[in-house]
This record gives sequence, C-alpha cells and structure tokens, in this order.
Amino acid sequence: MTTKKTYKTLQETLGLLPGEPLSRYTSFRVGGPADLLAVPRDKKALTAILKAAIQEGLPVTLIGGGTNILVSDKGIKGLVIVLKALKSVPCIIETGHSKGNEKTIYAGSGERLSTVCQFAMDQGLAGLEFAAGIPGTLGGAIIMNAGTATWEISQVVAAVDVIDIKTLKCQTIKKQDLAFSYRQLTPKDILIVGASLTLTSADPARIKKRFDQTLKTKIITQPISLASAGCFFKNPAPHVPAGKLIEEAGLKGMQINGAQVSPLHANFIVNTGNAKCEDIIALKNLVQKTVFEKYQIKLETEVKVTGE
Ligand SMILES: Cc1cc2nc3c(=O)[nH]c(=O)nc-3n(C[C@H](O)[C@H](O)[C@H](O)COP(=O)(O)OP(=O)(O)OC[C@H]3O[C@@H](n4cnc5c(N)ncnc54)[C@H](O)[C@@H]3O)c2cc1C
Repeated sequence: MTTKKTYKTLQETLGLLPGEPLSRYTSFRVGGPADLLAVPRDKKALTAILKAAIQEGLPVTLIGGGTNILVSDKGIKGLVIVLKALKSVPCIIETGHSKGNEKTIYAGSGERLSTVCQFAMDQGLAGLEFAAGIPGTLGGAIIMNAGTATWEISQVVAAVDVIDIKTLKCQTIKKQDLAFSYRQLTPKDILIVGASLTLTSADPARIKKRFDQTLKTKIITQPISLASAGCFFKNPAPHVPAGKLIEEAGLKGMQINGAQVSPLHANFIVNTGNAKCEDIIALKNLVQKTVFEKYQIKLETEVKVTGE
C-alpha cells in the first residue's frame, strides 16, 4: 500500500508532480488530477520512475501528446507518465536492410509526429505526408496506428524500441512481430521509446504537394482549431464512415453543456470551452444510442477513455 509518505519520497527523489490536472496534458482540455505525474526527459529517468512504480505497486498510465484520450473528471489513480519529452531528434540510420531508393529514419517516441514528418520531407523522403495536421507524438501514432482513409503509419514502421513496464527489459520489436490493424497495435501494453521508419526517396516537390493537399482538406473539413481528440468513433466498416451515420441521424451540432457534436464534422466531439468529461461521455452515449436505434450499428470509440 503506497502511503502519503512514500508519495512524498517519490516526489522528492524523482521530481514527480502530485495532483497535477490532466486537462493540461490532453487536447480535449478535460481531465482531473493524476495522483502522481512524471515527465521523463530520457530513458534513464524513465527507467528510474518505472522501477519506483514497480517497487510501490503503483498502476502506470501512459500519455503521449494526449490527443487521442479522454480522461475522467476524477482523474487517474497511481502514476501517469507523460512521454512527450522523451525526444531524440530524427536522423537517418544505416540498417543494412534498406532496398533501392529506401532510407530508414529513427526518432524518439516523444518527438511530435509533425516534426518527424517535416524531417522526412526535408530529406526528400516520402511516406509520412498522411500525417499532415495529425497532432501528437510518434509513439502515440504507432500505438494508435494513426492514419487517413488511404494511408497509415504501419506502412512505414520498420521497428520499435520498447521497455517492458513490468520487467524493465528493453528490446527492439521488428515489423514482422508487430500486428497492426485499424487504429490498433498488438502487442498491447508496450512502452515505445523510439522507432525506425522506412521511407522512400521521391521528388520533394511532389511530396510537399501531397502534404499540402492533405493539410488543406483537413483544415476545410475538420474543426482543428477547437479542443477535441480527433475522430471520436471508429468507422464501423471501411466504406461506412461513422461521421456520415451520425450526421444522417440528425446529431450534427447536438450539445450537452460544453460538449458538442461538431457542426463541421459529425465524428468530432468538441469542447466548446467549459465541457467536463461527464458531458462528453453523456454526448457519446447519446450518439451511440441514437445511431444504434436508427441503424442497429454499435459505434466503438476510437478515443481511449481512461481514469476513474
Ligand atoms: C484535431 C485532431 C485531428 C486528428 N486527426 C487524426 C487523423 O487524421 N488520423 C488519426 O489516426 N488520428 C487523428 N487524431 C488522433 C490523434 O492525434 C492520433 O491518434 C495520435 O497519433 C495520438 O498520439 P498521441 O501522442 O497524442 O497519443 P495519446 O493520445 O497520448 O495516447 C494514445 C494511446 O497511446 C498510448 N501511448 C502514447 N504514447 C505511447 C508510447 N510512447 N508508448 C506506449 N503507449 C503510448 C497511450 O497510453 C494511449 O493509449 C487527431 C486528433 C486531433 C485532436
């Protein structure tokens, strides 16, 4: 049992923050406090924090950029580790496996996906243009298999460096041992510290054109300036967009307190300013119930709901 005294010791020795509001770490801008929160800057600090969590029997929750999660108003028990400071700037690496016009790049999991994408474009490397306008970290993008209708990050991941949260064992898992599916990666429960991506040399002007087109479409069709976690629900089938079902069920603009089904894109729930997690959950439940009654389709959340 972790006592208040132990918490104090952990705070002092490892610089952990007590009672930090998680609304500061999520793009939804909602979420209550973490019992303890850590923002490790390197693998050594991360390992020390994980070791303390094992010794104290603290449950561990991981957050990257916090752009695909919804945290409860009561917050998260135990230790929350925010991985966005776990950076190592993107660089080109020699693997001996790259074929023809392929090159492999490596970056820390806390690097922003946009930074990794920009690096690739600067090097004349194609394969990450889909990431235009997708916020969050490289690690979060791999865990979520982030993507668009036509491309996803699994198509360029070559390997991930991970730490086992329970044994602290470090290992590299190669692409053939990773099972990606729609917004999902197996094995689950891994902590990604870095990843290598195999990209293809291409005409920089064409790469930039694809990036710009993707970004332009996103700006026009999605409420990117409002607090949200992106698309809230998974598409129930490849050619059945959740947003279309929600729109046709008449839910565009529907509001519960500060939570609203975006009038621009029905698969976005936005925080118009003062939403609580409970408002967003109530709206999510209403959307699921209405769509089920109309189409007998149960929408699953893409956003990870976490906390008490
Ligand atoms: C405006 C907007 C637009 C978006 N557009 C898209 C889009 O077009 N396509 C798309 O796929 N997504 C989109 N998203 C959702 C989101 O940006 C992506 O899923 C993103 O890749 C999540 O990264 P993150 O670092 O924020 O992860 P988080 O939200 O912090 O975490 C997501 C999950 O990954 C885990 N995790 C995070 N980092 C690590 C790590 N290093 N090791 C182990 N586990 C980890 C967390 O525990 C959590 O379960 C959008 C979101 C917003 C707000």
